[in-house]
Amino acid sequence: MKEKTLSIIKPDGIRANLIGKVLSRLEEAGLRVKAMKMLHLTKKEAMGFYVVHKERHFYESLTSFMSEGPVLVMVLEGENAIQVLRGAMGKTNPKDADPGTIRRDFAESLERNIIHGSDSQDSAQYEIGYFFNALEIMSD
Ligand code: ATP
Ligand code: MG
Repeated sequence: MKEKTLSIIKPDGIRANLIGKVLSRLEEAGLRVKAMKMLHLTKKEAMGFYVVHKERHFYESLTSFMSEGPVLVMVLEGENAIQVLRGAMGKTNPKDADPGTIRRDFAESLERNIIHGSDSQDSAQYEIGYFFNALEIMSD
């Protein structure tokens, strides 16, 4: 089933100049970019984005990290895009991620793990709407 998902190249990925390498992995996985923008999130915007984690012990640190520098947010589309993106990213902790995944190959720690991907259809819908309006998402 063709679906859309949201991905973010996190501030560590931008700082390490990895936009091209990460996008290559995503395109090679069969995903197409349908919308894209670079933003420097405020702490509040990062908190709103990760609100599902507001009770977690890492929420404060995670939202500081996500607002420390620019990020690249994008809507990706493809067959089973949510699962395909998560597969290309690898497990949350780069140490547990398979070789050949973005996190294993580029990330430095559990928190600073280069890339975000929506984990369900519900979260994809919330996250795409958080950053993009309908006119900004290409339909062709
Ligand atoms: P993401 O939502 O960013 O795609 P994920 O779905 O693999 O990552 P989540 O459990 O949703 O993992 O955690 C969100 C993010 O919070 C992680 O990607 C990581 O940056 C950070 N994180 C998760 N667990 C921890 C932890 N125990 N300590 C520090 N940071 C963490
Ligand atoms: Mg998540």
